[in-house]
Amino acid sequence: MNVKPKVVVIGAGIIGVTSAINLQKKGHQVILLDKGGVAAGASTGNCGLMAVSEIVPISKPGVLSQVPNWLMDPEGPVTVRAKHALTMMPWFMRFLKSGSENNVNNIAQGLTQLSNKAAAAYAPLLKESDIEDLLKPHEVIYLFDDRNEIIEDQFSWDLRHNCGFKMEFLEGDILREMEPEISPNIDSGMLMKGWDYFSDPQRLTQSLANTFSQNGGEIRLSKVTDLIKKDGKIIAALLDNYEKLEADHFVIACGAWSRILADQVGDYIPVEAMAGYNTTILRPNVSLKHPLLHHNGGFVITPMEMGLRVGGTLELGGLNSEPNYNRVRAITRKAQNILPNLEIIEKTEWVGYRPMMPDTLPVIDKSPRYSNLIYACGHGQLGITYGAITGELVADLITQGSSEKVNMSPYSATRF
Ligand SMILES: Cc1cc2nc3c(=O)[nH]c(=O)nc-3n(C[C@H](O)[C@H](O)[C@H](O)COP(=O)(O)OP(=O)(O)OC[C@H]3O[C@@H](n4cnc5c(N)ncnc54)[C@H](O)[C@@H]3O)c2cc1C
Repeated sequence: MNVKPKVVVIGAGIIGVTSAINLQKKGHQVILLDKGGVAAGASTGNCGLMAVSEIVPISKPGVLSQVPNWLMDPEGPVTVRAKHALTMMPWFMRFLKSGSENNVNNIAQGLTQLSNKAAAAYAPLLKESDIEDLLKPHEVIYLFDDRNEIIEDQFSWDLRHNCGFKMEFLEGDILREMEPEISPNIDSGMLMKGWDYFSDPQRLTQSLANTFSQNGGEIRLSKVTDLIKKDGKIIAALLDNYEKLEADHFVIACGAWSRILADQVGDYIPVEAMAGYNTTILRPNVSLKHPLLHHNGGFVITPMEMGLRVGGTLELGGLNSEPNYNRVRAITRKAQNILPNLEIIEKTEWVGYRPMMPDTLPVIDKSPRYSNLIYACGHGQLGITYGAITGELVADLITQGSSEKVNMSPYSATRF
């Protein structure tokens, strides 16, 4: 007998995989689809941080004064591709609007709710997949060239503190005792309490997907080209081989591509692609215990299983721009200034697209038009951190119609 699938999850990045696995745990029959395979997008090459106190949105008071630099410096920590600037103007206006002090305080509360549940939501998933070794209990250190950078960004540090997160200032000598490879040119650091990191985000997503399929879930290499509607519901996903895959519920977890399907069903979900790059230095001659986050440079150096990963930078240029690998070479040079003994003999380079909402908050909600369509996207620079808790919320939305774990209103699909 052919059993009708209950839920089709579109996108097998960390968000789609954790949604699928949590739905399966609640007894749903789930098919997980991805046009490029498991972890084909941002979930593979990111920096792996459980960045729980990174609750300050990118748009915050004073952001407007930084915009000229974003347009003029293609190798700076944040940049906007000139060609894309006009197309993304409506997104950008919403981005600027969300950066008022009042809005930022509310956004930080919305992110904090997810941060507070992030680690506990991962714990059972890591145990079931036997990958607890992936989560390294080493906190991240922010690095400052000059301690005045802290005062210049006092708003963000106060906001983190007010949301209940703890940090510890590290004088240069103490910092170098903790991480002897750090250059004397680095003035000081800030230990971010409560953070830890995954030493291979690709293995994380793939292992969870393996558990899902061992438990009877189906994973298919397919692109969804459209969603077929009837009487206020989605009745099927149309695949690139023209197959119509019917189900009771559908989840859009397509990361930076989520807007394409949202537009097709007439929902306004303004997810922009914010590119980020990494270099992974294979067999590095320098070893670190903690991931290091360079405050001014906007990049992270994470000691991963496969090497030392230098990753980050924010680039708004849409999904179709040619990657600009000069950006990753620029941050790699800066990483060598921080770790003067670091030699690079063999490396890989990668670009990925963060799914970015104007206010930095994800969308975890039902479609306003189709009651059996769920959005789980827009996690920006925090998708690894919020992967497991998002999966739980998606499963609650489908099983119970809502979730009591957190106040869901910040993640509304109709807020723009
Ligand atoms: C350089 C960099 C560093 C980062 N560092 C961190 C970090 O340290 N900590 C952290 O928490 N986050 C970090 N992030 C962010 C994090 O990687 C993302 O938020 C997260 O991976 C998003 O997951 P996702 O599942 O939503 O999207 P993705 O991983 O991009 O997955 C979406 C999937 O959907 C598929 N898809 C799209 N359209 C379709 C379709 N029509 N049909 C079928 N499949 C489709 C794609 O192939 C893709 O596999 C970083 C990102 C970057 C770029």
